[in-house]
Amino acid sequence: MNRELHSFPGGLQIPPHKELSNSKTSLITPLPERIILPLQQHIGSPAVPIVKTGEKVLKGQVIARASGYVSVPIHASTSGRIIDIGNYTVPDSLGLKAPCIVIEPDGDDAWFEIKPTRDYLSIDPKALQEVIREAGIVGLGGAGFPAHVKLNEGMENIVDTLIINGVECEPYISCDDRLIREKPGYIVNGARMIRHAVQAKHCVIALEEDMPEAYAALKELIDDDIELVQLPVKYPQGGERQLIKALTGKEVPSGGLPIHIGIVMHNVGTAAAAYRAVTRGEPLISRYITVSGEVKDPRNLQVLLGTPVKHCADQCGYEVKEGQAIILGGPMMGMYVNNMLMPVIKTTNCVLVTSTFNQQPEMPCIRCGQCAEVCPAELLPQQLYWYARAKNHDRLREYHLFDCIECGCCSYVCPSNIQLVQYYRKAKRQIMQDEQTMSGANRARQHFISRNDRLAREAQEQNEEMLAESETDETDKQSFIQAAVERTRAKRAQMKKPEKQQDHDE
Ligand code: SF4
Ligand code: SF4
Repeated sequence: MNRELHSFPGGLQIPPHKELSNSKTSLITPLPERIILPLQQHIGSPAVPIVKTGEKVLKGQVIARASGYVSVPIHASTSGRIIDIGNYTVPDSLGLKAPCIVIEPDGDDAWFEIKPTRDYLSIDPKALQEVIREAGIVGLGGAGFPAHVKLNEGMENIVDTLIINGVECEPYISCDDRLIREKPGYIVNGARMIRHAVQAKHCVIALEEDMPEAYAALKELIDDDIELVQLPVKYPQGGERQLIKALTGKEVPSGGLPIHIGIVMHNVGTAAAAYRAVTRGEPLISRYITVSGEVKDPRNLQVLLGTPVKHCADQCGYEVKEGQAIILGGPMMGMYVNNMLMPVIKTTNCVLVTSTFNQQPEMPCIRCGQCAEVCPAELLPQQLYWYARAKNHDRLREYHLFDCIECGCCSYVCPSNIQLVQYYRKAKRQIMQDEQTMSGANRARQHFISRNDRLAREAQEQNEEMLAESETDETDKQSFIQAAVERTRAKRAQMKKPEKQQDHDE
């Protein structure tokens, strides 16, 4: 039976430009001179290095351990020598540096000992979750959320539907399309494995209609246990909430999670990486990325994590030109970066070289309302814009700023050329910083109160001790006086005795 499809509000039909890169077989990127592995490649706490400079490491070896529940380890993506642990430029729109482990490859690409588990169905779901965590698997669709946390949510709740998201709706990006075409078995078996891990009743793999080859490749391998669905092309259908709405008609409540309505979603790349980790024992050390836009040979690459972005672009005929911009990600949601020194990390899906980026000056808002019409989250983007400019954080919360998925539809249609999404990103950052400061202030206040309580308690204990001591002193004093009185009395009594008796006594 065909699934009844729904739609989500707003959204856009935008030129896909996927044909630039999706028809060529992916290229295995040669080893770079340096591998730079940031300790923070995921949402959550950064990993903690467990290697030292000068140490030799093997491919797949853990070089930084997870530092909490929402954290994953980092593995060496090739064999070589650790030449530095320090701050390097990482994928960040502000060009920030962050702690990284740098490996000089030895060229052997020699593997660390790996432990494959062929029959994943025989593994207890909890143990499976642990294997996936130890393999450093995070959401490869761009979010970078540790996969084991989502699997655990699934185990603690009843999961009606597992959705494997192959809807790659941003223009230019075709790495999921290529991955599905080239490794359909990983996706199908990865879907089955995750279904086992979360004990889902149903499993759906979702694609858009502009991926016919990927659809055919999956169709060949799928039995009745998995539903394969094609959706009409619409941006941003790959967004978690939008895809859930399109497939099920259900809405994830504001501030809620898909699991609250019985759904768990993973990207196709995550499913493939999890399957590979369990059945081949290979941790997450590489991924597919698209290099597209104004390069001679746009295509998809299989890249070792830590490979510099420039090295990837060079494989596709990149040449430096005046007025060029580099975007990590797609043109709608990606980040503009000002150099190509940073490495490919777990969440990097595309390197886009363009000179057609928005250089028009912003004009005043004319209140046309077009931004609200296209907003898939049914927000009021122009109101958010005013409140973001006014730094009115209370109003921004009231208008559900944090439901904004930063899809960029509003900026795309704005006739005044206002880069609305940039205002929202900045406002979100400010609010989160304020919250951190606030919680820091709360912690300081709590510390102050506790300290005062402790001092008061200590003072009271000291008083009690002193009182006890003084009472003891008083008792001693009374005893001393009593003894003296006794002695005096005895002496007097002795003085009153008759001499005879006195002699006798002597
Ligand atoms: S689309 Fe631009 S000009 Fe129109 S209301 Fe929104 S912010 Fe204002
Ligand atoms: S960026 Fe945010 S406000 Fe703008 S259309 Fe997308 S979800 Fe709506």
